[in-house]
Order: sequence, then C-alpha cells, then structure tokens
Amino acid sequence: MAAQIISGKEVAKTIREELKRETEELKKKGITPGLTVILVGDDPASQIYVNMKAKACEEIGIRSEVIRMDRSTSQDDLLEEINRLNQDVNVHGILVQLPLPKQIDEKLIINAISPEKDVDGFHPVNVGKLAIGENTLLPCTPNGILELIRQTEIEIKGKHAVVIGRSNIVGKPVSFLLLRENATVTMTHSKTKDLPAIAKQADILVVAIGKPEMVTKEYVKPGAIVIDVGTNRLESGKVVGDVKFDEVKEIASFITPVPGGVGPMTITMLLKNTIEAAKQIHHVK
Ligand code: NDP
Repeated sequence: MAAQIISGKEVAKTIREELKRETEELKKKGITPGLTVILVGDDPASQIYVNMKAKACEEIGIRSEVIRMDRSTSQDDLLEEINRLNQDVNVHGILVQLPLPKQIDEKLIINAISPEKDVDGFHPVNVGKLAIGENTLLPCTPNGILELIRQTEIEIKGKHAVVIGRSNIVGKPVSFLLLRENATVTMTHSKTKDLPAIAKQADILVVAIGKPEMVTKEYVKPGAIVIDVGTNRLESGKVVGDVKFDEVKEIASFITPVPGGVGPMTITMLLKNTIEAAKQIHHVK
C-alpha cells in the first residue's frame, strides 16, 4: 500500500493558527513578541528568506523588523548592532541571516547573540543544552521534523531512527531530538560504510544530505516513516528532495513531499521560538 503523505504545508498552517491565538493572548498581557532579522548584503536568496520570515511574523501578529546592512559592514559594526538588540527589551528574537560576507566570522556573530534571544537555536549554549537534554530554544528545521514525525501518531519511543547527514543545522540536532524522545538513533554520513543496509533498518529515516534523489527504495524498510529534508534545485528548475519520492512512497508508511514537507515547518518553528523567547523573557508560562 502506498505511503500516507505528511503535508508540512497543512501542519504548518494549523500550528500557525495556534501561534496566532497565543500571540493574541500575550498581547492582552501587554507583551508583543518581536523578531529582528539582520540581513548583511544583498544576496538574492537571503532577501527572499528574510521577506518570507517578516511576512510570516506579520500574519500571526508578531512584531517584525528587518535591519539591512551594507555588504561592506565590518564585523565590529555588526557586533555593536547585536549588542544593542540584546539589550532591547522589545526584541525577543534575533536572527542573523546566513551566509555572511567574507570579512565577518559567522561563529563569532552567532556567539554574540544572547542565548535567550537565539531563535535559530544555533548558539553553542543552546546546542549544548539540547545535547544534555535540557529545555531550550530548539533549532527550527530539526524541531519541524520532529513535529512532522509526531503527526503520524506513531510512538517514537524505542523505534530505530537512522539519520543520514550530520550537519550542525539538521543532522546532529535532529539526532539529539530523536534521542530525547527515546528513539535508538544511528547517525550516518558520507564516510558510513554500507549505508543502504543501515538505512534499511530504520523505522524512522531522516534524510538530510543535499543529493538529489539519492535515497532509493534499496535504503528503505517497508513500513518506515521517511522524512526528506533535502531541497535540491535541478537544472530544469524543478525542486526535488534527497529521496526518490515516487519509488519510496510505494513502500514507506509515511513520507514527506518536496516541496511542501519539511520546508514550510522551518519558518513556523521560528515563529514558535520567538513566542517562546518572549514568554521566557517576560516570565509568562
Ligand atoms: P550539509 O551539506 O551541511 O551536510 C550534508 C551532510 O550529508 C553531511 O553530513 C555529509 O556527510 C552528508 N552526506 C553527503 N553526501 C553523502 C552521501 N553520499 N552519503 C551519506 N551522507 C552524505 O547540508 P545541510 O544539512 O545543511 O542540508 C542538507 C539538505 O537539507 C540540503 O538539501 C539542504 O538544502 C536541505 N535543508 C532544508 C531545509 C528546509 O527548511 N527544508 C533547512 C536546511 C537544509 P559529511 O559530514 O561526512 O560530509
């Protein structure tokens, strides 16, 4: 039987409606969650992402601000701006759109954001808290992935989850989140030997590699939940995932499409983090 499709678009829509209600409740208490995005330079893809984030904020009532800085901005000037935002009581979330121009050290910038305002969940303090199982602001794409797995209503506890890809923004944090949910987690990467055999053991397979349609049905156990994080634009302009969807959907129990799967969840989780940060900062339960 063909897999059920997990529509990230639909899930994201439902969550955003809940977040809109939550924002309205917070406003009644005199708190308007606020997100500030800093964009350095004029990278076209970054401009699109920043605009999407601002629009998503407005739709649910979060106050959003975009600070645009020139491509030639110095590291010190950017640090100064971040320090100012760290102090600003009306700013609950700070996001510096990556990549940054060459003269700026990304790590240094991420480290300068106050961990309680780090709505991307990239600050080493938040990464560390996630690794040791403490509550913290969770990185957006991994948290969105977990939300999609929850949608299947299949218990994660005790399941074998295999994660393909070990990047700091997807593979590693999603592995920690699954471990926190009591899955047995196998992390794999480009040096893993006999990957198809390992992947085929997975009850939950999360694929985040960036290789168009690499994961064929040879990698998938019949009945597995398959989450495809990959977003690859082909020369034809078509966007495909890391999973060969048509083939794998015939044997999986659940599968996410690309586009319309993990993608729409990322910004949704950013909105959720901004509200969470506002609640934490103002000590609201
Ligand atoms: P990275 O390039 O940072 O990491 C890719 C990972 O895949 C690495 O750990 C690498 O291993 C591993 N890998 C590469 N080739 C193979 C292979 N042949 N077999 C096994 N493992 C392999 O990518 P990201 O994690 O940033 O992104 C992954 C994908 O997810 C991309 O398509 C990206 O566009 C997409 N993405 C989508 C998001 C969304 O919101 N939908 C958000 C973020 C990413 P090694 O470490 O050994 O090099």
